[in-house]
Amino acid sequence: MPVKPLYEDIHIPTVDLWTYLFERRDKPWSDDKEIYIDAGTKRSYTWSQVKNTAVEFGRGLRSQWGFKKGDVLGFFTPNNVDYAAVFFGVHYVGGAASTANPTYTAKELAFQMKDSGAKGIVTQLPMLPVVREAARTIGMPEDHIILLGDERDPSGRFKHFTEIKHTGLLGTFNTGHTRVDPKKDLAFLVYSSGTTGLPKGVQLTHYNIVANIAQLEFVDRFNGLYHSGGLDGQGDKQLAILPFFHVYGLTCIALAGIRMGLPVIILPKFDIEKACQAIQEYKVTFASVPPPVVLALAKHPAVSKYDLSSVKFMNSGAAPLGRDLVEMVWDRLTIPIMQGYGLSETAPTLTKGIICDWKRYNGSAGKLLPNIEAKIVDLDGNELSSGQEGELWVKGPNVFPGYLNRPDLQEETFSAGGYFRTGDIGYFDDKGNLYITDRLKELIKYKGFQVAPAELEGILQGHNNIADACVIPAHDRERETEVPRAYLVLKPGITRDDAKAQEIILWLDSRVAQHKKLRGGVRFIDEIPKNASGKLLRRVLKERAKAEDRAL
Ligand code: AMP
Repeated sequence: MPVKPLYEDIHIPTVDLWTYLFERRDKPWSDDKEIYIDAGTKRSYTWSQVKNTAVEFGRGLRSQWGFKKGDVLGFFTPNNVDYAAVFFGVHYVGGAASTANPTYTAKELAFQMKDSGAKGIVTQLPMLPVVREAARTIGMPEDHIILLGDERDPSGRFKHFTEIKHTGLLGTFNTGHTRVDPKKDLAFLVYSSGTTGLPKGVQLTHYNIVANIAQLEFVDRFNGLYHSGGLDGQGDKQLAILPFFHVYGLTCIALAGIRMGLPVIILPKFDIEKACQAIQEYKVTFASVPPPVVLALAKHPAVSKYDLSSVKFMNSGAAPLGRDLVEMVWDRLTIPIMQGYGLSETAPTLTKGIICDWKRYNGSAGKLLPNIEAKIVDLDGNELSSGQEGELWVKGPNVFPGYLNRPDLQEETFSAGGYFRTGDIGYFDDKGNLYITDRLKELIKYKGFQVAPAELEGILQGHNNIADACVIPAHDRERETEVPRAYLVLKPGITRDDAKAQEIILWLDSRVAQHKKLRGGVRFIDEIPKNASGKLLRRVLKERAKAEDRAL
């Protein structure tokens, strides 16, 4: 029997995201409620300003670029108070947003923009050189690079999104928001390597996103922790320390915030001191964070300077979280840290902790959200019972339909019964709590960010001295995160020494984004273990890395 949620199924409306957020009649707070607030500049958007800005920008895209249903716009920017209003503009005219990590190299960005078929890229002034190089590589016209944020291009060459306005004969006539099919058309196209290989476009339909917001809203209300405060506005407030380009920050903060009327206090990047300042100043009550933020809250000296007593709880997700840190945060700040779990492919949340279960730490990633069912299976797909460890398979309205342009992957991505194979290993206890214990898939997560081993291996194999390469996750205890480690076979006659290892690390690091650097180091070996048909036996090297780390 599949594992079912604790709750009854909830109603998920079959509507597009625009309708769900901006054409609702049941919004219990005023249109003037501030939703997005920049903690640094104090610039903010109310709910109606977000809507009006999105309409203006969407109409501009439609009339100036002929942007239409099914078109994609790329995003390459750190968190900014303009971010959501701009992608809602894309939704207004029936398009999808493909959000990319703003630390990508030009090559990495070009890959995503080309693969997603993006018509243009939204960025900020400091990132222009990378974006221009990426645009050149894929033949994207430069006037399809748009800026958001506080800085304008002094040369006037690159337009700010507020300058993309409707023109022409139809200029004064607004045809309204473009209707899309919520179950077929995409709202977001985020990138994930899935269980194997290079990053792929994760197609998130409007329905997937609406479903996950509704599921989250239900559980948060169940927890009694989310409260918009109604018309008086004295409700909960959340901190956006997670990046909006990743589906965790996107759905759980940016989108959940505007649906639930929870002001989002935005930080452009992770800085523990600024985060604490913002919590104190805005009396933030809640935050979704990745494990490195929990680490900083537990150990960073600056934390003690601030009053964080407004925080009711935090939710950690995106990567495993150990017991010690949760205990340390509780002892230091009396803030409960619960865990949630999910994937890009599930828009993202599948399970979430509930406060009445929280007893400092139970290691669980929480319980299934409503409308999701799950199975734990062995390697042959046979269902296991509670307490038994195996691969987690899930079904639900938030589960994506498949990877962009990769029908060849459908069969390995979904079981015959329509379950999505998560590639994660874990078990449910008899109370329906999920424990994630390992990963069957190749993925490495550095501080919650994806590193696809196949991508690093492809680059390493292009090095003159390397005959073969395998990249696996090692554990960095100090930073409380996985780090990529490369096992390399050198070509005959090349000396294996520290200097060679350092040279290779620097060579690779100069070709990839920050989070993909070989922080786990390089190890030289005689041969990469493979089975008879030549398939890499990563598990052998993963075990070897564990043994090496234990011996440290
Ligand atoms: P992403 O698609 O980038 O969100 O990555 C999803 C993957 O992150 C999952 O398949 C897990 O391997 C990992 N992950 C997410 N949340 C957790 C968690 N709470 N505990 C352990 N691993 C997690």
